Amino acid sequence: KNGSLKLTESTSKKLKDSVSGMPYLVNFAPILAEKPESNSSSESNEDPFENPCDDLIVSKDINEDGSYKLLLNKYPIVPEHILLVTNEFKDQSSALTPNDLMLAYKFICKMDNEDENIRNLVFYNSGPASGSSQNHKHLQSFKIPSNFITFQDKLCSGKDHFLPNIKDEPLQDNKVAFAHFVLPLPEDSTSVDEDLLAMSYFSLLQRTLTFFQDWLNEKPDLVKSYNVLLTKNWICLVPRSHSKTSDYKPEPKPEEPMEKITEETEEEPKKEEEPEEDLTVDLSINATGYAGMVLVKDQETYDKILKTPDLIDKSLFECGFPNTSDKRPN
Ligand code: AMP
Repeated sequence: KNGSLKLTESTSKKLKDSVSGMPYLVNFAPILAEKPESNSSSESNEDPFENPCDDLIVSKDINEDGSYKLLLNKYPIVPEHILLVTNEFKDQSSALTPNDLMLAYKFICKMDNEDENIRNLVFYNSGPASGSSQNHKHLQSFKIPSNFITFQDKLCSGKDHFLPNIKDEPLQDNKVAFAHFVLPLPEDSTSVDEDLLAMSYFSLLQRTLTFFQDWLNEKPDLVKSYNVLLTKNWICLVPRSHSKTSDYKPEPKPEEPMEKITEETEEEPKKEEEPEEDLTVDLSINATGYAGMVLVKDQETYDKILKTPDLIDKSLFECGFPNTSDKRPN
Protein backbone atom coordinates (compact mmCIF):
# COMPACT_ATOMS: atom_id res chain seq x y z
CA LYS A 1 0.00 0.00 0.00
CA ASN A 2 2.84 2.44 0.70
CA GLY A 3 4.69 1.57 -2.51
CA SER A 4 7.73 -0.13 -0.92
CA LEU A 5 6.94 -3.16 -3.02
CA LYS A 6 5.96 -2.87 -6.67
CA LEU A 7 4.07 -5.87 -8.02
CA THR A 8 4.02 -5.97 -11.81
CA GLU A 9 0.69 -7.05 -13.25
CA SER A 10 0.92 -9.97 -15.67
CA THR A 11 -1.29 -12.55 -17.31
CA SER A 12 -0.26 -16.18 -17.44
CA LYS A 13 -0.90 -18.91 -19.94
CA LYS A 14 -0.15 -22.62 -19.77
CA LEU A 15 1.39 -24.16 -22.88
CA LYS A 16 3.04 -27.46 -23.77
CA ASP A 17 6.00 -28.33 -25.95
CA SER A 18 4.87 -30.49 -28.88
CA VAL A 19 8.05 -32.63 -28.89
CA SER A 20 9.04 -33.05 -25.25
CA GLY A 21 5.65 -32.46 -23.63
CA MET A 22 7.44 -30.03 -21.28
CA PRO A 23 4.79 -27.86 -19.59
CA TYR A 24 5.30 -24.11 -19.85
CA LEU A 25 3.79 -21.26 -17.90
CA VAL A 26 4.21 -18.03 -19.81
CA ASN A 27 3.84 -14.81 -17.83
CA PHE A 28 3.17 -11.83 -20.06
CA ALA A 29 3.99 -8.43 -18.55
CA PRO A 30 3.93 -5.84 -21.36
CA ILE A 31 4.41 -3.00 -18.87
CA LEU A 32 8.04 -4.17 -18.48
CA ALA A 33 8.77 -3.48 -22.16
CA GLU A 34 7.81 0.17 -21.60
CA LYS A 35 9.94 0.54 -18.46
CA PRO A 36 12.84 -1.89 -18.90
CA GLU A 37 14.60 -0.76 -15.73
CA SER A 38 11.60 -1.19 -13.46
CA ASN A 39 12.34 -4.78 -12.52
CA SER A 40 15.83 -4.31 -11.21
CA SER A 41 17.84 -1.76 -9.41
CA SER A 42 20.76 -2.18 -11.81
CA GLU A 43 20.47 1.49 -12.80
CA SER A 44 22.77 2.20 -9.86
CA ASN A 45 25.83 0.27 -8.73
CA GLU A 46 24.58 0.23 -5.18
CA ASP A 47 23.99 -3.07 -3.47
CA PRO A 48 20.22 -3.12 -2.78
CA PHE A 49 20.67 -5.90 -0.25
CA GLU A 50 23.19 -4.12 1.97
CA ASN A 51 20.66 -1.90 3.70
CA PRO A 52 17.29 -3.05 2.45
CA CYS A 53 14.16 -1.07 3.11
CA ASP A 54 12.67 -2.03 6.53
CA ASP A 55 9.26 -2.70 4.99
CA LEU A 56 10.76 -5.54 2.94
CA ILE A 57 12.54 -7.30 5.81
CA VAL A 58 10.67 -10.36 7.05
CA SER A 59 13.51 -11.63 9.23
CA LYS A 60 17.02 -10.31 9.86
CA ASP A 61 18.24 -13.75 10.94
CA ILE A 62 16.15 -16.45 9.29
CA ASN A 63 18.71 -19.22 9.93
CA GLU A 64 19.25 -18.24 13.59
CA ASP A 65 23.02 -18.16 13.05
CA GLY A 66 23.40 -14.65 11.66
CA SER A 67 24.04 -15.93 8.12
CA TYR A 68 20.86 -15.01 6.22
CA LYS A 69 18.03 -12.53 6.16
CA LEU A 70 14.65 -13.02 4.53
CA LEU A 71 13.42 -10.19 2.31
CA LEU A 72 10.43 -9.61 0.12
CA ASN A 73 11.37 -9.00 -3.50
CA LYS A 74 10.83 -5.32 -4.24
CA TYR A 75 9.82 -5.92 -7.87
CA PRO A 76 7.89 -9.19 -7.99
CA ILE A 77 5.94 -10.47 -10.97
CA VAL A 78 4.39 -13.22 -8.88
CA PRO A 79 3.08 -12.57 -5.34
CA GLU A 80 5.11 -13.66 -2.32
CA HIS A 81 8.41 -13.79 -4.18
CA ILE A 82 11.00 -13.84 -1.41
CA LEU A 83 14.78 -13.55 -1.23
CA LEU A 84 17.20 -15.29 1.11
CA VAL A 85 20.13 -12.87 1.27
CA THR A 86 23.46 -13.33 3.05
CA ASN A 87 23.93 -10.82 5.87
CA GLU A 88 27.59 -10.45 5.03
CA PHE A 89 28.43 -9.69 1.40
CA LYS A 90 29.30 -12.83 -0.55
CA ASP A 91 29.65 -13.08 -4.30
CA GLN A 92 26.75 -14.47 -6.32
CA SER A 93 29.17 -16.62 -8.30
CA SER A 94 30.30 -18.46 -5.15
CA ALA A 95 29.16 -22.06 -4.75
CA LEU A 96 26.31 -22.90 -2.42
CA THR A 97 27.53 -24.15 0.97
CA PRO A 98 26.00 -27.08 2.89
CA ASN A 99 24.54 -24.42 5.23
CA ASP A 100 22.94 -22.54 2.27
CA LEU A 101 21.43 -25.77 0.95
CA MET A 102 20.06 -26.87 4.31
CA LEU A 103 18.51 -23.44 4.90
CA ALA A 104 16.85 -23.58 1.48
CA TYR A 105 15.54 -27.09 2.10
CA LYS A 106 14.24 -26.27 5.60
CA PHE A 107 12.56 -23.16 4.19
CA ILE A 108 10.78 -25.24 1.56
CA CYS A 109 9.62 -27.79 4.17
CA LYS A 110 8.20 -24.96 6.32
CA MET A 111 6.42 -23.26 3.41
CA ASP A 112 5.09 -26.34 1.58
CA ASN A 113 1.67 -27.62 2.54
CA GLU A 114 0.81 -31.00 1.08
CA ASP A 115 -2.85 -30.85 2.18
CA GLU A 116 -3.34 -27.60 0.32
CA ASN A 117 -1.14 -28.64 -2.59
CA ILE A 118 1.30 -25.79 -1.96
CA ARG A 119 4.82 -26.38 -3.25
CA ASN A 120 7.71 -23.97 -3.28
CA LEU A 121 10.71 -23.61 -5.56
CA VAL A 122 14.04 -22.23 -4.35
CA PHE A 123 16.44 -21.11 -7.06
CA TYR A 124 19.93 -19.70 -7.37
CA ASN A 125 21.16 -17.84 -10.46
CA SER A 126 24.94 -17.96 -10.36
CA GLY A 127 27.34 -16.27 -12.78
CA PRO A 128 26.93 -13.60 -15.46
CA ALA A 129 25.03 -15.77 -17.96
CA SER A 130 22.64 -17.23 -15.38
CA GLY A 131 20.07 -14.43 -15.52
CA SER A 132 21.05 -12.84 -12.20
CA SER A 133 21.03 -9.08 -11.80
CA GLN A 134 22.50 -8.67 -8.29
CA ASN A 135 26.00 -9.66 -7.21
CA HIS A 136 25.23 -10.00 -3.50
CA LYS A 137 24.59 -13.68 -2.79
CA HIS A 138 20.87 -14.44 -2.72
CA LEU A 139 18.61 -17.41 -3.19
CA GLN A 140 15.01 -16.83 -4.22
CA SER A 141 11.73 -18.61 -3.70
CA PHE A 142 8.10 -18.55 -4.70
CA LYS A 143 5.16 -20.90 -4.79
CA ILE A 144 4.95 -23.12 -7.84
CA PRO A 145 1.59 -22.15 -9.38
CA SER A 146 -1.07 -24.67 -8.40
CA ASN A 147 -1.53 -27.57 -10.80
CA PHE A 148 1.71 -26.78 -12.57
CA ILE A 149 3.86 -29.89 -12.96
CA THR A 150 7.44 -29.25 -14.00
CA PHE A 151 9.32 -31.64 -16.29
CA GLN A 152 11.65 -32.40 -13.36
CA ASP A 153 8.61 -33.59 -11.35
CA LYS A 154 7.79 -36.05 -14.14
CA LEU A 155 11.40 -37.13 -14.50
CA CYS A 156 11.71 -37.90 -10.77
CA SER A 157 8.25 -39.37 -10.29
CA GLY A 158 8.49 -42.76 -8.54
CA LYS A 159 12.31 -42.63 -8.41
CA ASP A 160 14.32 -43.08 -5.22
CA HIS A 161 17.11 -40.76 -4.19
CA PHE A 162 20.59 -41.78 -5.36
CA LEU A 163 24.00 -40.22 -5.62
CA PRO A 164 25.47 -40.42 -9.12
CA ASN A 165 28.39 -42.72 -9.84
CA ILE A 166 29.95 -44.24 -12.97
CA LYS A 167 26.94 -46.54 -13.44
CA ASP A 168 24.14 -44.18 -12.45
CA GLU A 169 24.29 -40.77 -14.04
CA PRO A 170 22.03 -37.90 -12.89
CA LEU A 171 18.64 -37.88 -14.59
CA GLN A 172 18.34 -35.91 -17.84
CA ASP A 173 15.21 -35.78 -19.99
CA ASN A 174 16.31 -36.77 -23.49
CA LYS A 175 13.33 -35.03 -25.11
CA VAL A 176 14.31 -31.47 -24.22
CA ALA A 177 17.10 -29.77 -26.18
CA PHE A 178 19.10 -28.33 -23.29
CA ALA A 179 21.53 -29.97 -20.84
CA HIS A 180 20.41 -30.33 -17.22
CA PHE A 181 21.16 -32.66 -14.32
CA VAL A 182 18.53 -33.81 -11.84
CA LEU A 183 18.54 -35.93 -8.69
CA PRO A 184 15.42 -37.05 -6.83
CA LEU A 185 15.51 -36.28 -3.09
CA PRO A 186 14.28 -38.68 -0.38
CA GLU A 187 10.53 -38.65 0.20
CA ASP A 188 11.09 -38.62 3.95
CA SER A 189 12.39 -35.13 4.75
CA THR A 190 13.82 -36.26 8.11
CA SER A 191 16.46 -38.26 6.22
CA VAL A 192 17.65 -35.14 4.38
CA ASP A 193 20.61 -33.45 6.04
CA GLU A 194 23.43 -31.09 5.08
CA ASP A 195 25.66 -33.94 3.90
CA LEU A 196 23.03 -35.43 1.60
CA LEU A 197 22.20 -32.06 0.07
CA ALA A 198 25.85 -31.08 -0.29
CA MET A 199 26.81 -34.38 -1.93
CA SER A 200 23.86 -34.12 -4.31
CA TYR A 201 24.67 -30.51 -5.23
CA PHE A 202 28.40 -31.05 -5.67
CA SER A 203 27.95 -34.15 -7.81
CA LEU A 204 25.70 -32.12 -10.14
CA LEU A 205 28.00 -29.10 -9.99
CA GLN A 206 30.94 -31.28 -11.06
CA ARG A 207 29.06 -32.30 -14.22
CA THR A 208 27.92 -28.72 -14.80
CA LEU A 209 31.42 -27.29 -14.58
CA THR A 210 32.73 -29.92 -16.98
CA PHE A 211 30.84 -28.06 -19.73
CA PHE A 212 32.98 -25.00 -19.24
CA GLN A 213 36.16 -27.06 -19.53
CA ASP A 214 34.91 -28.93 -22.60
CA TRP A 215 33.77 -25.77 -24.43
CA LEU A 216 36.78 -23.62 -23.56
CA ASN A 217 38.46 -24.18 -26.96
CA GLU A 218 35.34 -23.37 -28.94
CA LYS A 219 34.13 -20.48 -26.76
CA PRO A 220 37.13 -18.99 -24.92
CA ASP A 221 34.99 -16.12 -23.52
CA LEU A 222 32.64 -18.46 -21.71
CA VAL A 223 32.29 -17.58 -18.02
CA LYS A 224 31.08 -20.20 -15.56
CA SER A 225 27.34 -19.70 -15.04
CA TYR A 226 24.59 -22.03 -13.95
CA ASN A 227 21.18 -22.26 -12.30
CA VAL A 228 20.19 -24.31 -9.28
CA LEU A 229 16.56 -25.32 -8.78
CA LEU A 230 15.42 -27.02 -5.58
CA THR A 231 12.06 -28.40 -4.46
CA LYS A 232 11.25 -30.84 -1.67
CA ASN A 233 11.36 -33.61 -4.29
CA TRP A 234 14.40 -32.88 -6.44
CA ILE A 235 17.48 -30.77 -7.13
CA CYS A 236 18.44 -29.67 -10.65
CA LEU A 237 21.45 -27.84 -12.09
CA VAL A 238 21.57 -26.25 -15.54
CA PRO A 239 24.80 -25.01 -17.16
CA ARG A 240 24.28 -21.65 -18.89
CA SER A 241 25.91 -20.03 -21.91
CA HIS A 242 23.79 -16.84 -22.27
CA SER A 243 21.38 -14.94 -20.06
CA LYS A 244 19.18 -13.87 -22.99
CA THR A 245 18.34 -15.16 -26.44
CA SER A 246 19.54 -11.95 -28.11
CA ASP A 247 23.12 -12.75 -26.97
CA TYR A 248 23.07 -16.09 -28.80
CA LYS A 249 24.80 -16.17 -32.17
CA PRO A 250 23.89 -19.23 -34.25
CA GLU A 251 26.71 -21.10 -35.97
CA PRO A 252 26.97 -19.87 -39.58
CA LYS A 253 25.36 -22.30 -42.04
CA PRO A 254 27.81 -23.98 -44.42
CA GLU A 255 27.64 -22.31 -47.84
CA GLU A 256 25.56 -24.05 -50.51
CA PRO A 257 27.79 -25.49 -53.28
CA MET A 258 27.50 -23.49 -56.55
CA GLU A 259 25.21 -25.18 -59.05
CA LYS A 260 26.87 -26.34 -62.25
CA ILE A 261 25.40 -24.59 -65.29
CA THR A 262 25.55 -26.65 -68.47
CA GLU A 263 24.96 -24.98 -71.79
CA GLU A 264 22.62 -27.60 -73.23
CA THR A 265 20.02 -27.54 -70.47
CA GLU A 266 17.44 -24.88 -70.58
CA GLU A 267 17.22 -22.88 -67.40
CA GLU A 268 14.28 -23.98 -65.31
CA PRO A 269 12.00 -21.20 -64.16
CA LYS A 270 12.94 -20.33 -60.59
CA LYS A 271 10.45 -21.41 -57.95
CA GLU A 272 9.26 -18.57 -55.83
CA GLU A 273 10.87 -18.99 -52.45
CA GLU A 274 8.59 -18.75 -49.47
CA PRO A 275 9.84 -16.15 -47.02
CA GLU A 276 11.37 -17.91 -44.01
CA GLU A 277 9.34 -17.55 -40.86
CA ASP A 278 11.10 -15.34 -38.32
CA LEU A 279 11.56 -17.61 -35.32
CA THR A 280 13.62 -15.26 -33.17
CA VAL A 281 12.16 -14.41 -29.80
CA ASP A 282 13.41 -11.97 -27.22
CA LEU A 283 13.62 -13.72 -23.84
CA SER A 284 15.75 -13.20 -20.74
CA ILE A 285 15.97 -16.49 -18.90
CA ASN A 286 16.89 -17.33 -15.32
CA ALA A 287 16.45 -20.54 -13.29
CA THR A 288 12.65 -20.37 -13.42
CA GLY A 289 12.77 -20.73 -17.23
CA TYR A 290 14.30 -24.16 -16.76
CA ALA A 291 11.28 -25.14 -14.68
CA GLY A 292 9.14 -24.02 -17.65
CA MET A 293 8.17 -20.60 -16.28
CA VAL A 294 9.13 -17.78 -18.61
CA LEU A 295 8.54 -14.07 -18.51
CA VAL A 296 7.64 -12.33 -21.77
CA LYS A 297 7.78 -8.56 -22.04
CA ASP A 298 6.90 -7.81 -25.67
CA GLN A 299 3.79 -8.55 -27.68
CA GLU A 300 5.68 -9.82 -30.74
CA THR A 301 7.48 -12.53 -28.73
CA TYR A 302 4.26 -13.39 -26.89
CA ASP A 303 2.36 -13.87 -30.16
CA LYS A 304 5.13 -16.04 -31.62
CA ILE A 305 5.25 -18.23 -28.49
CA LEU A 306 1.49 -18.68 -28.39
CA LYS A 307 1.62 -19.83 -32.02
CA THR A 308 4.73 -22.00 -31.58
CA PRO A 309 5.33 -22.96 -27.92
CA ASP A 310 8.37 -25.03 -29.02
CA LEU A 311 10.25 -21.72 -29.39
CA ILE A 312 10.69 -21.87 -25.62
CA ASP A 313 12.71 -25.09 -25.86
CA LYS A 314 14.77 -23.47 -28.63
CA SER A 315 15.42 -20.46 -26.36
CA LEU A 316 16.34 -22.65 -23.37
CA PHE A 317 18.78 -24.47 -25.66
CA GLU A 318 20.28 -21.21 -26.95
CA CYS A 319 20.82 -19.94 -23.41
CA GLY A 320 22.17 -23.30 -22.20
CA PHE A 321 24.12 -26.19 -23.74
CA PRO A 322 23.11 -29.20 -25.86
CA ASN A 323 21.44 -32.07 -24.02
CA THR A 324 23.96 -34.82 -23.17
CA SER A 325 21.62 -37.67 -22.21
CA ASP A 326 22.91 -39.79 -25.12
CA LYS A 327 26.57 -39.28 -24.21
CA ARG A 328 28.59 -41.44 -21.90
CA PRO A 329 30.34 -39.48 -19.18
CA ASN A 330 34.10 -39.40 -19.33
P1 AMP B 1 18.37 -11.78 -9.76
O1 AMP B 1 17.91 -10.83 -10.83
O2 AMP B 1 18.16 -13.20 -10.07
O3 AMP B 1 19.79 -11.47 -9.34
O4 AMP B 1 17.46 -11.49 -8.49
C1 AMP B 1 17.50 -10.24 -7.83
C2 AMP B 1 16.11 -9.94 -7.34
O5 AMP B 1 16.19 -8.84 -6.43
C3 AMP B 1 15.17 -9.53 -8.46
O6 AMP B 1 14.05 -10.37 -8.44
C4 AMP B 1 14.80 -8.08 -8.13
O7 AMP B 1 13.44 -7.83 -8.39
C5 AMP B 1 15.08 -8.00 -6.64
N1 AMP B 1 15.44 -6.67 -6.16
C6 AMP B 1 16.11 -5.71 -6.84
N2 AMP B 1 16.30 -4.62 -6.04
C7 AMP B 1 15.74 -4.91 -4.84
C8 AMP B 1 15.60 -4.21 -3.59
N3 AMP B 1 16.07 -2.96 -3.45
N4 AMP B 1 14.98 -4.83 -2.57
C9 AMP B 1 14.50 -6.09 -2.72
N5 AMP B 1 14.59 -6.79 -3.85
C10 AMP B 1 15.19 -6.22 -4.91
